[in-house]
Amino acid sequence: MNNLFRTLVFDGQVSLTVADTTPIVADGQKMHLLSVPATLVFGKTLSAMTFMSACLKEETGEISLSVKTDGNAKEIAVSGNRALHIRGYIDEVGACGSEEEVFGKNGSLTIIRDDGYSRPFVGTCAFPEKGGVDEAFEEYYRISEQLPTRVKTAVRFDEYGRLVFAGVAVLQPLPFANAEALQKTRDTDLDALLTLAQEKGARRAAESLSPDYAVWEERNAKYQCNCSRQYLTRVLVSLGKAQMEQIIKEDGAVRIHCHYCNTDYQFTQEDADRIFPQNDGTDEV
Ligand SMILES: [Zn+2]
Repeated sequence: MNNLFRTLVFDGQVSLTVADTTPIVADGQKMHLLSVPATLVFGKTLSAMTFMSACLKEETGEISLSVKTDGNAKEIAVSGNRALHIRGYIDEVGACGSEEEVFGKNGSLTIIRDDGYSRPFVGTCAFPEKGGVDEAFEEYYRISEQLPTRVKTAVRFDEYGRLVFAGVAVLQPLPFANAEALQKTRDTDLDALLTLAQEKGARRAAESLSPDYAVWEERNAKYQCNCSRQYLTRVLVSLGKAQMEQIIKEDGAVRIHCHYCNTDYQFTQEDADRIFPQNDGTDEV
């Protein structure tokens, strides 16, 4: 089901993105067994990255971010691609405290955007003096990309601490936006827009700002890692037979852990025999 909507508003001068990221944040929480405060901050970061991934223009495009902070989260990494497959991890899965305590006050946000054919663009900014996750992303756009972007993310829980909604709403003026459009961008209540998305759906929220349907775009974003046994098999082939067997001899198996989806892979001697078949008459299945 489509959960991300992009269009132009305010006389076609400002781009609007609204996404319901609840399934992405729910999957991230479940996969990493996160505390509520860790889910809040990690979920806001996943939501902001869902927007950034939707801005990628090339099919092969990928974007990654890394947050290093003095907050309880310590470190957060999130990646997304043009297909809107979002994945990531937070260093401190059981982090406690408010958004400010988990996200921290002093830290940096680094973005690496790879369009797939030229050198990746790397932008970084220090956290602004005031604010949390949203303000750090706004600062990034102001400093690194010189775009006066408004970013609002929400991760909401019920009284029992269960995730009930996550979303992102972004307004980004186009380079020719006039003063009136910029003023409307500043005046729009994005929190209210996210509440509308929670109650009536992200589509209705995007439609509430008089969209230009000629540039209407809707897509499905989800939490998905791009690791696989097949991919890791290719890595082991490049490692070579001798080294793979040496590790198996010492540790019983080659064990690989994917931080992004918390999956453990194990390759045994049987796998080594299959990856590097010997001409000893053994039948391969
Ligand atoms: Zn993975």
